[in-house]
Amino acid sequence: MQYTLWPLREVWIKVGLEKLENHKGIAVKALLDSGAIGLFMDTKSAKEKGFKLKRLKNSLLVQNINGMVDVGGAITYQVGCNIFFKRHVERAQMDICNLEKTEVILDMPWLAVHNPEIDWKKDEVKITRYPLVCRKRKQEEKKKVVRKTEEEKTVEELVSKRLWKWKRVFGKAESERMPVQKI
Ligand SMILES: [Zn+2]
Repeated sequence: MQYTLWPLREVWIKVGLEKLENHKGIAVKALLDSGAIGLFMDTKSAKEKGFKLKRLKNSLLVQNINGMVDVGGAITYQVGCNIFFKRHVERAQMDICNLEKTEVILDMPWLAVHNPEIDWKKDEVKITRYPLVCRKRKQEEKKKVVRKTEEEKTVEELVSKRLWKWKRVFGKAESERMPVQKI
C-alpha cells in the first residue's frame, strides 16, 4: 500500500484582532499549535500595531515552543482583544512574548474548545461547533445582552480539566505555570 505524504504540516489561519479600547482591527496570520498551551502574541508585532499592553502582577514562566522559537524568559504583559475568525468572535487575553516571525499562536486548549474541522488537503479550517465562550459574528449585536455572562468567561475557564493535567506535569505551582509545552 502506498501512502501519500501531504506537504501541509502546519495550519495557519487568518484572524482579525480587535483592540478593546477603540474597536480598531488588524488582520494577522495565526499558527494553530497543538503543542502550545497559551494564546500568544509577538512582542514586536503587538507594539508596532499599537496594542495596549497590560502588565501582569505575577510573571509567567515560559519555555521554548517546539524547541524552535525562543520566547525568551518570563511573560510580563498581556493584551486583551477580540479575535475574529470568519463568522466567529471571542474575547481573549493573549500572552506577549517573542515569537520572531510568528505574530499569533492559538494553542491546544483553543483547538480543544473550538474543535475546528480541518481539511488538511485543502488547508481549510472551519469552526462549525460554537463553544459558549464564542459568538457568531452576525448574531453578535442581537445577542450582546442575552449572552453577557457567557462572554465573560475565558477559554481557559471552559476548557476541559483533562487538558490542564499537562500543566501539572511540567509546572510546579500555579504562579509558575508554563504555557508553552510540546507534548
Ligand atoms: Zn472562540
